[in-house]
Amino acid sequence: MSKLTPKERMKIQRQQMPAQEPLERIKNFFEVNLGLTEELAKLEASRCLECPHPACVEGCPVNVQIKDFVALVAEGKFLDAATKIKQDNILPAVCGRVCPQEEQCEKNCVLAKKGQPVAIGNLERFVADYERNHLQKKEKIQIQKTGKKVAIVGSGPAGLSCAADLIMAGHDVTVFEALHELGGVLVYGIPEFRLPKEIVKAEIEGLKDLGVNFVTNYVIGLTETLDELRQRFDAVFIGVGAGLPYFLNIPGENLNGIYSANEYLTRVNLMKAYQFPNYDTPILDIHNKVVAVFGGGNTAMDAVRTSKRLGAKKAYIIYRRTEDEMPARKEEVHHAKEEQVEFLFLRNPIEFIGDENGYVKQVKLQVMELGEPDESGRRRPVPVEGKIESLDIDTGIIAIGNGSNPILTKTAKNLKFNRKGNIEVNPETMETNLPGVYAGGDIVTGGATVILAMGAGRKAAKAINEYLSKN
Ligand code: FAD
Ligand code: SF4
Repeated sequence: MSKLTPKERMKIQRQQMPAQEPLERIKNFFEVNLGLTEELAKLEASRCLECPHPACVEGCPVNVQIKDFVALVAEGKFLDAATKIKQDNILPAVCGRVCPQEEQCEKNCVLAKKGQPVAIGNLERFVADYERNHLQKKEKIQIQKTGKKVAIVGSGPAGLSCAADLIMAGHDVTVFEALHELGGVLVYGIPEFRLPKEIVKAEIEGLKDLGVNFVTNYVIGLTETLDELRQRFDAVFIGVGAGLPYFLNIPGENLNGIYSANEYLTRVNLMKAYQFPNYDTPILDIHNKVVAVFGGGNTAMDAVRTSKRLGAKKAYIIYRRTEDEMPARKEEVHHAKEEQVEFLFLRNPIEFIGDENGYVKQVKLQVMELGEPDESGRRRPVPVEGKIESLDIDTGIIAIGNGSNPILTKTAKNLKFNRKGNIEVNPETMETNLPGVYAGGDIVTGGATVILAMGAGRKAAKAINEYLSKN
């Protein structure tokens, strides 16, 4: 394969990810994408032009050595490719599945100009899965201990990546997690059909093997304050995410049958409501019912596709802008359309109407149009005066974003926050105003992405290392 000329490489079409059939998969919670075969992966990798200055690497927030790992895949050296990726990314099986590659590495790939970038995400996923399924015996790594102790608050991607780098540097690392499961949004938010939980578990097992200590059901701010924790550890990293859902603040929002996407997805994913009564988490029966999800991001797509799998007759995405402005990954939107999700663009909910028992039965929608761009650069939706529609619904799910959870922040009186409640850090080091206390991920940026949270965790780990070498 490596002897192909650039012209020959460019003639090969991008290989499609095999997937479950849409009408079959909406009856189950198994993963939609089935993964590339070895042959497909090698063929896809052989499309790479091995650019002298690979722009794809610059597009990756953690600068995975994409050209090098893709070349190893093309040669069939899959385990070597996994080692190469893991130099920069400890969660490749996760990132290969959930990163918005079309906005990052694949957007920068020179082949994107012709509309067919190398399928970097699919290859990353293939390599990580191959390693998980084929690596028999992991080499025991000998790490020289420093005797320093670091506490990590939160076991999402930010906390996990920070823990990985710090344990490799020889520190004792303890991760404190509020929930009974580890992984943050990866386990309580993103559904099984997009990211099987066994994959997250396997990645966390890898960290346990390296010696990271995990403590679950431990809420910093309730079980112990940040100050108390700081006294017990030489340094602390806060990666508590943005777990507090925003609401619409419109009349009728407290009717029965209206959920935040957070609660809905947590019930289904983490508490396994989709396996009720085998698991004792209830959720409103939506068989043959109409569900409306408000929002246009990944959370909205996850909620609407979950509703399809729970038997909804009709499942709507209601979004106040148009498809072009939707922040969700393109693949999720594509999959949602295949699964017969209906999209109502340029509509904004203004009121929920209930029945005599206090259950939602209708939503009033203000018709919108696009005006001038706002501070995010996207065109601002503005109401079209007098144009209001009604839609009959049985369940409403609100997925318009999350803010920071006040449990830790309210009890950490000396920690500095911005007006949105996010922790303020020095962007070079991720250090907060409290010496030896660092923060990163969604609690600093607001809701963002897995890879950005991981990048922040790694940046903080580097700075913590330097801090511990002097203190
Ligand atoms: P989190 O993942 O939120 O983890 C924080 C952890 O801290 C949680 O486990 C929480 O229980 C714990 N915690 C909170 N408070 C405390 C406390 N006081 N004490 C102890 N522990 C505490 N990003 C993508 O890149 N691609 C996607 O496809 C994608 N889909 C998403 C779908 C959904 C439904 C959601 C909600 C988000 C999605 N995101 C996606 C965003 C991404 O998941 C987040 O940006 C990322 O998980 C942030 O990582 P984090 O480590 O900062 O926080
Ligand atoms: Fe290969 Fe595309 Fe990266 Fe060039 S930009 S090295 S073609 S993946």
